[in-house]
Amino acid sequence: MTTESAEKQLLEKVPTKLFIGGTWRDASGGKTLVVRDPATGNVIAEIADASAEDAAAALDAAVAVQAEWAESAPRERSNILRKAFDILQERADEFALLMSLEMGKPLAEARGEVTYGGEFLRWFSEEAVRISGRFGQNPEGTGQMVISQRPVGPCFLITPWNFPLAMATRKIAPAIAAGCTSVVKPAELTPLTTLLFVSVLEEAGLPAGVVNVITTSSSSTVSAPIIADPRLRKLSFTGSTPVGQKLISQAAEGVLRVSMELGGNAPFVVFEDADLDKAVDGALIAKFRNIGQACTAANRFIVHESVADAFVEKVTARVKAMKVGRGTEDGVEIGPLIDDRAVEKTGELVNDAVGRGATVAAGGSAIEGAGSFFEPTVLSGVPAGSDILREEIFGPVLAVTTFADEDEAVRLANDTEYGLVSYVFTQDLARGMRMIDRLETGMMGLNAGVVSNAAAPFGGLKMSGIGREGGAEGIHEYLSTKYTLIPNS
Ligand code: NAD
Repeated sequence: MTTESAEKQLLEKVPTKLFIGGTWRDASGGKTLVVRDPATGNVIAEIADASAEDAAAALDAAVAVQAEWAESAPRERSNILRKAFDILQERADEFALLMSLEMGKPLAEARGEVTYGGEFLRWFSEEAVRISGRFGQNPEGTGQMVISQRPVGPCFLITPWNFPLAMATRKIAPAIAAGCTSVVKPAELTPLTTLLFVSVLEEAGLPAGVVNVITTSSSSTVSAPIIADPRLRKLSFTGSTPVGQKLISQAAEGVLRVSMELGGNAPFVVFEDADLDKAVDGALIAKFRNIGQACTAANRFIVHESVADAFVEKVTARVKAMKVGRGTEDGVEIGPLIDDRAVEKTGELVNDAVGRGATVAAGGSAIEGAGSFFEPTVLSGVPAGSDILREEIFGPVLAVTTFADEDEAVRLANDTEYGLVSYVFTQDLARGMRMIDRLETGMMGLNAGVVSNAAAPFGGLKMSGIGREGGAEGIHEYLSTKYTLIPNS
C-alpha cells in the first residue's frame, strides 16, 4: 500500500514539459493536457500539450544532431545505455509506482515491467558494440564486396499506454544503440513514465537532441507533418492495427522504413495430454497480466472437449479468488481498465457472447462506482461467431471454446487476421513441434504463458505487424545495409 504523500512526492518529481534539444519547454501557446488515475478518475498531472509547431521543433532537434550521433563511438552509446539501466534499477520503485498511478496496473506487475523494460537498455548496450558487416570476394573474382551497417537516420517512435515503460525502451534503446536520433510520442493516457524516463537518459549523459519527447492530445495532427517531413527516415509504432494501417499509408509517401507492433488475438490451445495445472497457471498469467490489456493476452481459449470442464472449473476457482482494486493496494491482482470506454467495450463483448449462448462461470459485469473496473470473468461454451473470438478483448475476460482433434484446433487457432503469439499446452513433444510449424504466429509459448524477453525477437505475422523488437533482430530495425564494391584493379 502506498501513502498519499508518497504518491504526491513522486508526482511532483515528474517533468511536465516537452523535452526538445536537451531542454524542457512549454508547448507553444502554453496548452496543457491532464492525466488521470484510472482507478479513481482523479487528475494526477497536467502536462504540456504539443502542437504541430512543437513537433517540428522536436524533429529539427533530432535532425540537427543525427550526423554527429551516427559518428559517435559504439562504446559511448553502449555506456550511456548501461548507465541508464543502472539508474533505472536504483529508481525501480518510483517507476513502478508511477506506472501504477497513470495506467492502473498492480504494483507487483509494474515492478515486473521495470525489470522487463530495463532489460532493453542492458541488452542494447551489449548490442551497440556488436554491429557488424560482411566482407568477401565477388564471385567473378574481380573485386571485394564490403557490406556494412549504417544508422537509418532520424526516427519517429510512437508508443501505446498499456506498457508505458517497456514499449518506450524497446524502441528508444535500439535507436540509441544504432546511432539514430528520435522524436518519441507516448500515448496521451500514460505520458508520465516516458517523461520521467527521459530524465534518466539525461542523467546517464545522453547528448542533447538525440532523444526528444512530445506529449500531445492531438496525435494525428501532430504526427502527420513529422511523418510527411522528408528528413524523417523511420517510423516505429506500437498500438492498434487500425492506427498502424493509417500510419503505414502515411509513411508510404516518404517511403519510410516502418516497424509495426500491432494488435493480437492470441489462441491458447490446451490439448487433452496437457498438464492441466500448468495449463491453468499459464492461462491465468496469459490472460490476466496487465488486466488483460496486453497485445500478447490470450484472447481465445481453445480447449480439448475431454478436459474443458475440468479446465473451466479450475480457472473459475482461481478467478473468483482474485482481488480487484487500485493497483497500489496490497495484494491486488486486477486493477482498473484504462478508461470507461474500455469497460463499456468489454461489457459489449461479454453480452454478445452470452446472448449467443455462452455461460458465465465467473464475473461478467462492470463494477459500479469510481474508476474503470470490470470483474475478472470466465465464459465457457463460447459459440463460433461471437465477437469476442474475433476482436481483441483488452479486458479481464477468459473465453473458452472447445475442439475435437488436432486439425480442428489448428483451424480454430489460425482463424483470425492477427498473428502475434500463440500458446500451446501439451506434453507430447512431437505434437508441440508440429504446432510450432502449423500455427501462424510470430511467437509461441509452448507450455508457457509469457514469452516476452529482451533477448527475444518480439513481433507478429499477418495483421499483427511488420518487424521485430528485441533480440539480435531488434537493432536491425534501426540500421540499413550498405554494400560497397572495391574492384581489384
Ligand atoms: P492506439 O493505436 O490507439 O494508440 C497507440 C499510439 O498511437 C498512442 O500513442 C496514440 O496516441 C497514437 N495514435 C493514435 N492515433 C494516431 C494517429 N492517427 N497518428 C499518430 N498517432 C496516433 O493503441 P492503444 O490503445 O494505445 O494500445 C493498445 C493497442 O496496442 C492494442 O491493439 C494492442 O494489441 C497494441 N499493442 C501491441 C503491442 C505489440 O508489441 N504488438 C504491444 C502493446 C500494445
